[in-house]
Amino acid sequence: MAVSVLTPPLAGSAMVDPFGRTINYLRVSVTDRCDLRCFYCMSEDMTFLPKADLLTLEELDRLCSTFIDKGVTKLRLTGGEPLVRRNVMSLVRSLSRHLKTGALRELTLTTNGSLLEKYAQELADCGVRRINVSMDTLDPDKFRAITRWGDLGKVRAGIDAAQAAGLKVKINAVALKGLNEDEIPSLMEWAHGRDMALTLIEVMPMGDVGEGRIDQYVPLSLLRARLAAKFTLTDLQEDTGGPARYVSVAETGGKLGFITPMTHNFCESCNRVRITCTGTIHTCLGHEDASDLRKPLRASPDDALLGATIDRAIGLKPKGHDFIIDRRHNRPSVSRHMSVTGG
Ligand code: SAM
Ligand code: SF4
Repeated sequence: MAVSVLTPPLAGSAMVDPFGRTINYLRVSVTDRCDLRCFYCMSEDMTFLPKADLLTLEELDRLCSTFIDKGVTKLRLTGGEPLVRRNVMSLVRSLSRHLKTGALRELTLTTNGSLLEKYAQELADCGVRRINVSMDTLDPDKFRAITRWGDLGKVRAGIDAAQAAGLKVKINAVALKGLNEDEIPSLMEWAHGRDMALTLIEVMPMGDVGEGRIDQYVPLSLLRARLAAKFTLTDLQEDTGGPARYVSVAETGGKLGFITPMTHNFCESCNRVRITCTGTIHTCLGHEDASDLRKPLRASPDDALLGATIDRAIGLKPKGHDFIIDRRHNRPSVSRHMSVTGG
């Protein structure tokens, strides 16, 4: 059903965009800061937002709760690195009340894993069942090179702690030309051997990180073809509403995902929106479109204005992204970094 851009749904009603897509998945960046500097994500000398610009944890809670009232059933906390935000567990604990009422089906997070050892049990206690951990390599030296100073041992200890706490872990790895592309089979065998799915991600042209994307980009179609020569890959029909497409791997018994924004257009089933740590809503990862929710949030303790602003933003959700990486477009398609929008 097509809904006119000029007549957004009323505040309080379910969120349906102009192309008939129901929005039920919210990704929230709780901080733009991070303890690592992955070279494809951030420049070494990143300038972070002044702390005063950030929504407080109470404001983040109110914003998320408004979205849950409006039909969001899956909420992912991300960043930056969500676990570096001071007191972030108080937000997780407070949001977990929506799991208890059943309004929220899933509360989850994407983390680099470096602080996970400390928080894994508490996350599980709050009702978090699954998390994504980003880890691009099993080689400590390569890991340090990719993240500029990260300690792989801490991430692996974090994964151990998460599994010991009963959390289901999925590993995300960005495919990097000449860096980890040859390691993908062993990364996959390692993940599957520990009952973790592995999702490969293509580098997206987001934010100026001081290096040409063309040097980092390796199409996953190429990696998939290489894997298919060694393993039996069978397409799985699950629709996550997102960009990931999954296969099962007969030899390992595990699941492998491909996130291919550059080579596969997934926009027609997009069910998600993103909020930055300053309260800006982006309804498409690949567009500069944005609406400010901080102002209406702060303008009134009543959620009516906020709800109406959210509806207006959903009414402007674009049909699809327009990422391009080629030799003529060797610059970011979208100027904001992934760590600002929330990956
Ligand atoms: N710090 C957390 C982490 O690394 O998992 C959460 C935020 S991070 C921005 C979320 C995901 O985005 C990570 O899996 C990361 O590898 C990925 N990412 C960052 N920049 C990217 C880029 N330019 N292209 C593709 N993926 C990117
Ligand atoms: Fe930090 Fe995650 Fe970006 Fe790496 S990908 S710099 S861990 S926010």
